[in-house]
Amino acid sequence: MRYGHTKKILVTGGAGFLGSHLCERLLAQGHEILCVDNFFTGSRRNIAHLLDKPNFELLRHDVTFPLYVEVDEIYNLACPASPVHYQFDPVQTTKTSVIGAINMLGLAKRLKARIFQASTSEVYGDPEVHPQPEEYWGRVNPIGFRSCYDEGKRCAETLFFDYHRQHRLPIKVARIFNTYGPRMHPNDGRVVSNLVLQALRGQDITLYGDGAQTRSFCYVDDLIEAFIRLMNTDSEVTGPINLGNPAEFTIRSLAEIVIALTGSRSKLVYRQLPPDDPRQRRPDIAKATQLLAWEPTIDLRDGLMRTIRYFEDYLSTGPAE
Ligand code: NAD
Ligand code: UDP
Ligand code: UDP
Repeated sequence: MRYGHTKKILVTGGAGFLGSHLCERLLAQGHEILCVDNFFTGSRRNIAHLLDKPNFELLRHDVTFPLYVEVDEIYNLACPASPVHYQFDPVQTTKTSVIGAINMLGLAKRLKARIFQASTSEVYGDPEVHPQPEEYWGRVNPIGFRSCYDEGKRCAETLFFDYHRQHRLPIKVARIFNTYGPRMHPNDGRVVSNLVLQALRGQDITLYGDGAQTRSFCYVDDLIEAFIRLMNTDSEVTGPINLGNPAEFTIRSLAEIVIALTGSRSKLVYRQLPPDDPRQRRPDIAKATQLLAWEPTIDLRDGLMRTIRYFEDYLSTGPAE
């Protein structure tokens, strides 16, 4: 039985980095959570602390297959997010984004339920416009190594907007920029996890190129707050809406902050810049600020300290599943 404003909420990809934080936050608000995950990149470890909560249910399931359940709301996060993972089986990546979206939209349509899509700044591809407003259509290579992810997410957005126009489905589409925090995958090659683990292990810190390229890093708790605000705001607010932290840092300054916060003796070493590595990335979050009354509150040093503590614990307890 459900009381008051509590809802039964489906979170696909709920055992992943972002999904596990979302499940945790929604449970804390008193909702009943159905977490669906095939454990491709997610893990039981991420949700171990939720498994014995009475309002939490875990279902091992691949979203490329139909799913018949009864819920009030859907957050669709299932999809590997980092290049090493999404390029491992690119066909499956496209299937997860596209067929996964069709199945979750079909489910939402049958239930007349609100559905949220975790889209990405990668829909802008290698942009000619900085920073990118939501109106920018992007510049994406349709046949490259990154296309399974970028085009899969673009097609998922298309499906969301067509279900909205054709079936009046209430949709919420978020375009997520670089996010970091506890439960990031340790081996996904992302700059924050790489640098923190290298610093903690006393290994050389790898800067690609000259380290002068910039990124803007959003702490996971801030992002999850925006997800929930977007889901609960007026139904006319469909998105797409950029979510991220506009504070911009060079990768070299990120490395210097990580070294200072860990007290590491690691040295900076320079490695070849990967092809197509953007020089600059910063979200334009004017829309989110205006429509959701949201802006990030956790600064990089504070968020990094929390992430460092997580990886210290991870290293001391060993990489369990
Ligand atoms: P993650 O890899 O930690 O989480 C993705 C989850 O989806 C994992 O638990 C994985 O096992 C699950 N999954 C993958 N394929 C599935 C399938 N076919 N069926 C069921 N479950 C499946 O990644 P994350 O960083 O938590 O990303 C979550 C979502 O947010 C993704 O859709 C990603 O594209 C999007 N996103 C993340 C970022 C970021 O900076 N982390 C940026 C932009 C977009
Ligand atoms: N679907 C699902 N759960 C449901 C309803 C639908 O997984 O509760 C899937 C089903 O596999 C279908 C897809 O969603 O193929 C799209 O559903 P929709 O009703 O839009 O299309 P149709 O069933 O007419 O192809
Ligand atoms: N990067 C780096 N050292 C690393 C990992 C990444 O210098 O060990 C750089 C990478 O070349 C890019 C930036 O850090 O310029 C962010 O990389 P990430 O893969 O985290 O995110 P994305 O490039 O998708 O924004």
